Amino acid sequence: MKILVSADIEGVGSVVRSEHSGIQGREYAQARRLMTEEVNAAVRAAFDAGATDVLVVDAHNVGLNLLPEALDERARLVMGSPRPLAMMEGVDRGMDAVCYVGYHGMAGTTDAAIAHIFHSRVAALKFNGLQVGEIGLNALLAGVFKVPVVMIAGDAVACREARELLPGIETAVVKESIGAYAGICLHPQRCREAIYTAVARALARLETFEPLVLKETAVIMEIRFTTASSVDRALRLPGTERVSGDTLVYRAPDYLTAFKAFAAITDLLELVPWI
Ligand SMILES: [Zn+2]
Repeated sequence: MKILVSADIEGVGSVVRSEHSGIQGREYAQARRLMTEEVNAAVRAAFDAGATDVLVVDAHNVGLNLLPEALDERARLVMGSPRPLAMMEGVDRGMDAVCYVGYHGMAGTTDAAIAHIFHSRVAALKFNGLQVGEIGLNALLAGVFKVPVVMIAGDAVACREARELLPGIETAVVKESIGAYAGICLHPQRCREAIYTAVARALARLETFEPLVLKETAVIMEIRFTTASSVDRALRLPGTERVSGDTLVYRAPDYLTAFKAFAAITDLLELVPWI
């Protein structure tokens, strides 16, 4: 059994503000330790459940957050960027399941700590009308390779978002967010116990999970931005079409192509942070 653990930081227990998640933040050193230990809980549970290979993906920022020396030494770590499959790098390597650690709600959600999707100027993202955050974006990417997402750890809103999209997913609620930058947090040890248990429950009934796939092969991706100037910039990509001041669509033959276009557009926005 091969397991991919995709780890973000905003949904880690006791992480509630950009002082934690920003790499210059004064609490960042603490946040990356907390992130590493939550990942370790998932890795331990996977091996205890019979995994033969656990690949951990450092999926926050440029992929240099998890502390390699503190990581369970049985796991291998995907780090650095850019990578073709971004937060899911390695999901194309014959994985049996994906577990999310430190995941967060989609941009614009109420009571979801540091909610966003990839880039601060993306307000909403839809594929064939289905609105997704990083939970859905990455579950659809796993679906391309027929891999189900079976477990998520994050705040209560992220876990609810995941359950609505992926019925039956096991969840570990590590905090209850209050607005966008505050929360009621469980003790880190309790977070790790919850994660261990959720991974164990999921892998014990792995055969009951289905990968998430869109009904249609062709994909219309719609991105709404926080600024009209973001659309001006994103229109550099051939095939994009403006549908209103702040929204564009991109028609792709399949989901993987749409995902690549989304990643390219967010990279493009990163190059011009002043507009
Ligand atoms: Zn994220």
